[in-house]
Formats: sequence, C-alpha cells, structure tokens
Amino acid sequence: MKVPPISIDGAAPREDMLAALVELDARGLNRGSSGNLSCRVGEGMLITPTGMGAGGIEPDDLVWLGFDGARRGRLAPSSEWHFHAALYRARPELHAVVHTHATYCTALACLRRDLPAFHYMVAVAGGDSVRCAPYRLFGTEALSEVVVEAMQDRKACLLATHGAVSAGATLREAMKVMIELEALCRSYLAALAVGTPAILSAQEMAEVIEKFRTYGQGPVAGDD
Ligand SMILES: [Zn+2]
Repeated sequence: MKVPPISIDGAAPREDMLAALVELDARGLNRGSSGNLSCRVGEGMLITPTGMGAGGIEPDDLVWLGFDGARRGRLAPSSEWHFHAALYRARPELHAVVHTHATYCTALACLRRDLPAFHYMVAVAGGDSVRCAPYRLFGTEALSEVVVEAMQDRKACLLATHGAVSAGATLREAMKVMIELEALCRSYLAALAVGTPAILSAQEMAEVIEKFRTYGQGPVAGDD
C-alpha cells in the first residue's frame, strides 16, 4: 500500500525524519532506540519504528499510522505512538513531535520537577515553565493523557522518571525546542548544585515571550 506523498517544510518528510534521528544521536540526545519522532502526514502521522535507532534505518522503515487506527508500513511503530497521536489530535497547530531520554532532561524528570523560568530561554517552550507530567507507564493511553495536559500552551514537557517531549509547527522547530530544553536542564541542574537560581517573574517572562513573537525567527529565536 502506498503511503501518502505529503511533504513537510517543502521537503520529503522521510528524509527529514532520518536526518533528525541522526542529529539527535550526534548531539548525544538519543542513545540506541530509546528516542522516537513523528510528523503529521494527512489524517495520520509518520513515526519511527519500534526498537530502531538512527543506525541502519531506511526511509521505508518509517510507519504511517492513521488517526483512525489504520497502519501502513513493514515494521511496528514506536511503542510511544500513543502520545504522538494524542498530541496531533489535541493540537491542530502541531506537525512534529520529538521524544528523547536525553540525559539532563531525564535527570530533572527523575526528580519529578518542572523546569521554572530560571533563564529567559525557557520561553522557547511557549510559557514561563516546562511542566513535568506525572509518571505513567510508557506506551499507555494514561501517559498520553498526562502528556497532553502538561503540554497545554507549551511546545515541550518532561515525563516523570522517563524523559522529554517536544513539538512544533515543523520538525525543525520541534528539534530546536528539544535541543534547547536539554541545554536548559543542564544549566538548571548545574545552578541547583551550588545554590538556588533566581526565577524570572511572570511579567519578565511575558516580555520575553512577546519579544520572541515579534523579533527574529519566531518563538525559537533567542539572542544566540
Ligand atoms: Zn521513552
């Protein structure tokens, strides 16, 4: 059966997705087969297969899953497909989802703590914090529910005792948010190790969010 040939960002989504997987590995954000990513395609999504990392994966290994339960592909989808699908259903503006067990995101998630506005770039996720969703078993609808809730008005969340999720209007945006989130969690944990970081006020963060909205390349821009 032929998969819908719909492009993301004007390019072939399958190649973009494989390139993103390689980039996650290269940046040390993903190890082995723990991470996964997807792009909205038609009335469903293309998602990475279960049990495969960036090594050796072929474009045809990506699996198309329809929101009605239809499946096209020779491999089984990532076991985390539930929360990818739940996010696309709940958030029409989202077209890509990235999930990793990146070290510093996971460390904070294992403390079951939100990432507060200790740095203005926290606004990259769309608000004045990145919430940590409560623990639920991986690959379950129960996890999907808490992910959608934690992602409300946000483009990222942590998953308690598990990892992190990012999303965006494009795969590039979802990747940028994940890369920034890992750097932020690293800085936050480093700061916590020697003291109590100051937290920006709601007004200060509102100013950052407004500036992201009106300057540069949109909400993923910073002064980097
Ligand atoms: Zn996971």
